[in-house]
Amino acid sequence: MIQFNALFAGFLALFAAAALTRYALTRVNISHLREHGHLVPETFRDEIDGATLSRMRDYTVESSRFHSLESLFDDALLIAVLLGGVLPWLSDLIEASHLHPVWSGVLFFGTLYLASALLEIPFSLYSTFVIEKKYGFSTITPQLWLIDLVKSFAVSVILMALLFIPFFALIHLLPQSWWFAAWVFFALFQMLMIWLYPLVIAPLFNKFTPVQDETLRERILAMAGNAGLRAEGIFEVDAGKRSRHSNAYFTGLGKSKRIVLFDTLLATHSHDEIIAVLAHEIGHWKLRHLLKQLFAIEAVAFAGFFLVYRLMGWPMLYETFGFAGPLPYTGLLLAAVLLKPLVFFLTPIGAAISRKYEKDADNYVRGLIGSTRFLAQALKRLAKENLANLHPHPAYVAFYYSHPPLAERVARLQAMNGEEVVKVGR
Ligand SMILES: [Zn+2]
Repeated sequence: MIQFNALFAGFLALFAAAALTRYALTRVNISHLREHGHLVPETFRDEIDGATLSRMRDYTVESSRFHSLESLFDDALLIAVLLGGVLPWLSDLIEASHLHPVWSGVLFFGTLYLASALLEIPFSLYSTFVIEKKYGFSTITPQLWLIDLVKSFAVSVILMALLFIPFFALIHLLPQSWWFAAWVFFALFQMLMIWLYPLVIAPLFNKFTPVQDETLRERILAMAGNAGLRAEGIFEVDAGKRSRHSNAYFTGLGKSKRIVLFDTLLATHSHDEIIAVLAHEIGHWKLRHLLKQLFAIEAVAFAGFFLVYRLMGWPMLYETFGFAGPLPYTGLLLAAVLLKPLVFFLTPIGAAISRKYEKDADNYVRGLIGSTRFLAQALKRLAKENLANLHPHPAYVAFYYSHPPLAERVARLQAMNGEEVVKVGR
C-alpha cells in the first residue's frame, strides 16, 4: 500500500507541476498560433502562400494536440500503476521464483518495457497512418511498419540486455561503489553506440548507397577538405520509403566522417542548398558541439548515478511506494520515477545551449562557403516541406526548441549577407 506521507506528497506536487507546465505550454503555443498563424513572416513571403500557411497551422495544432493527449495518457497510467500497487505485485511475483538477483532485475525491467511497448502501438499507428498521412508525409506501408516494429523491438531487447545485465551485475558485486563503475560502463557503452549505430543498427532499417551525382560529390569533398575533414563516404539513405520529412547528418568519431543525405533532401534541394546544409553540419563538428554535449551528458550522468545510488539506499522510498523491502531493481525504478519530473524542468537548459550551438554553426557557414544565402533558402524550403510552425510562442521556444524559431533564424541568416533586414513579429 502507498503511504501518503511527505515524500509521496512532494512527489505528487512535482509530478503535477511538470504535467501542468507541459499542458500550459502547449495551450499557449496553440493559441499564439491561432492569433498570428494567418500572417506570413516577411522572410517567407516569396516561399509560402496562404494555402500552405493554413496547412502548417493545422498540422502543428493537430500533432501537438495528439502529443498532449499521449503524454496525458502516460501520466495517468503511471499514477494508476503506482496507486494500484502493480509494481510491488510484480516484484513479489518475480521474487517468488528465486532467481539470481541479476536475472530478477532484467525480468522486472523487461516486463515493464514489453508492457509499455505494447501500449505505445495504438499511438504510433494513429500518428503514422492518420495524422502524417493526412498531411502527405507518411509514405510507409503497413508491411514496412510491422517489419520496423519487430526489428526495433529486437534491437531494443538486445541493447537492454547488454546494458542491464552488466548493470545489475555491478550492483550485485560492488554494493557500495557500483554507481561509479556503472557510470564508467555507461559512458563507454555510449561511445561504442556512437561508433556502432551507423555501421550496424541504421543499415537494419535503411539502405545506404554512395551518392552517384559526381558534381555534388566533388563539391562536398572539396568543402569537407577545406574544413579539415575527411569524408569516409557520402551516402544517400532511402528515408523516403517511410516519410517525406527531409534531413542530412554526419556520423562517426574523430576526423573521419560518414556524410548521410536523405533521398528526400536530394530530390527537392539544389546543390547549393545541400552544400549549405552540410556546411552547417561541418560547423557543429568544427566547433566541437557533439563532444561538448557528450561531456555535459557524462557530467549530468555522474551526478545522476550518485543520486540514484543514494536514493536506492533510503528505506523510506520503498515503504512509501508500498514495497516490502529494498531491492536493487525496484529501487532503480523508483529513483527514476522520482527524478523524471525533476529532469523535465532541466529541459530549457539543454534547449538554450543547443540553440546557441545552432547560431554558432550558422555563423560558421559564412566563413566556410562565403555566404549564408543558400542556407536561408534551404531552411525556407525545409520549413515549407516539413510544415513547420512559423509562429511558436516565445515561452514554448525557450522551454523546448533545440533550434532558433525559423522566421528568426532565416531573418538572421539573410541579415548576415547584408540582405534587407526585415523585422519579424516576436
Ligand atoms: Zn544544426
